[in-house]
Amino acid sequence: MPRESSAVSALLSLLTHRYARSRSQRTTIQLVKAYRIQRIKGGMKFTCTHCEHNVTTLDFDIKAGNLRTQAATAINAHATQAHHTPMIISPSDSQLRSWR
Ligand SMILES: [Zn+2]
Repeated sequence: MPRESSAVSALLSLLTHRYARSRSQRTTIQLVKAYRIQRIKGGMKFTCTHCEHNVTTLDFDIKAGNLRTQAATAINAHATQAHHTPMIISPSDSQLRSWR
């Protein structure tokens, strides 16, 4: 068995695993977001695209989890309640934009 083929199969199984995991988190589903993200001093601001409602990562406690996720969840809840436009939060989004 050549070494290359075991390396390729290891890579393939890694990719397959990542693909399966991202599928389970629904990161591959792209929907129109109900919020805009702006970098602000000390954090990030999430503003509703339908109105002036906004939250910032400063409003949340890091002890409760990822601040961006909490802020996005809050905006999502607002959009659902106020505008009836639920959205899917993409974890990959916050990973791509490593604002700090
Ligand atoms: Zn709104």
